Amino acid sequence: MIERTKNECIKCGKCTRNCLFLEKYEMNLLDFTDREELRYHCFMCGKCKEVCPKDLSGVEIALELRRRNPKGTAGTKWMKENYKLKNNSKRQSSNLLFLGCNYPGYYPKTSEKLIEICGEMGIDFSIDCCKKPVYESGAKASFSPLEKLIEEKNTKRLICACPNCYHLLKKKLDIEVISVYEFLYENNIGTKIKGIPEIFFPCSDRYNREIFQSIKKYIDDYQDSFWEVNCCGLGGGAAKNEPDILRKTKIRIAELQKENIYTYCSSCSGIFKKYELKNIRNLLSEILGVEEEVSGNYAKNVLKFKFKQRR
Ligand code: SF4
Ligand code: SF4
Repeated sequence: MIERTKNECIKCGKCTRNCLFLEKYEMNLLDFTDREELRYHCFMCGKCKEVCPKDLSGVEIALELRRRNPKGTAGTKWMKENYKLKNNSKRQSSNLLFLGCNYPGYYPKTSEKLIEICGEMGIDFSIDCCKKPVYESGAKASFSPLEKLIEEKNTKRLICACPNCYHLLKKKLDIEVISVYEFLYENNIGTKIKGIPEIFFPCSDRYNREIFQSIKKYIDDYQDSFWEVNCCGLGGGAAKNEPDILRKTKIRIAELQKENIYTYCSSCSGIFKKYELKNIRNLLSEILGVEEEVSGNYAKNVLKFKFKQRR
């Protein structure tokens, strides 16, 4: 992508006009290719690719720059590569509910409900990391622990609760990967969302809306109320390097003054709670009738799920 950008960028400036990060440093994606020191400042939201007439991608540029010279990746690798809070059994399960690492922390009751629904259908669950944080950090991400897990469990289909897990694992694993919404719909589980949800689309599903195609079956109408906000602020691990962009994001979302904010990524919900936004709803929780608020006890919840039904 760095080479392609150097050859193909026509310096139209559309990427700069659509990105707080590029705007702050007064650069376009072509300039970014020569700013290695900013490789951990990109939120990896994908908006630049969406607007670029040449289909050039800041995500890919940031990834290439990070891989050339990875920095500060040891902690993430230690925690996530062989996820320290994982909970997997050796039980055979041709379908496997994959809760990821964040969803049980932010939505414990909804996670319980999903585990219960799947349990009644003979489907086991996994709490584990999809390795996206390692992958995006620029370190070498190994998917072999997950491959080993699905081989041991004879799993043929992974049911993902998290959009990040879905989009990454679909590309990396050799088995079928579906979203939890597709699974619920095919089994006639769940009820329609009441009213018109104002949806904050997660970066991973924002431009292709693959998962949203299944979610749409549970809503009559919706509003894309936050289209001008590129990322919740957690993308690409850039938050710690760009606190002023994070602040602007928080202010902008609050200024929009929407009646509610529906998410389908638990990380978005988690940061919105930190922003002290009101009426944060989770589409999965509402569809299942749990109507759970995002939890402020993340650490306690993930620890509890580590030992849940320890088999
Ligand atoms: S939008 Fe694309 S072509 Fe235009 S300046 Fe940015 S990278 Fe170059
Ligand atoms: S991926 Fe997002 S943050 Fe990074 S350059 Fe593109 S628009 Fe900006």
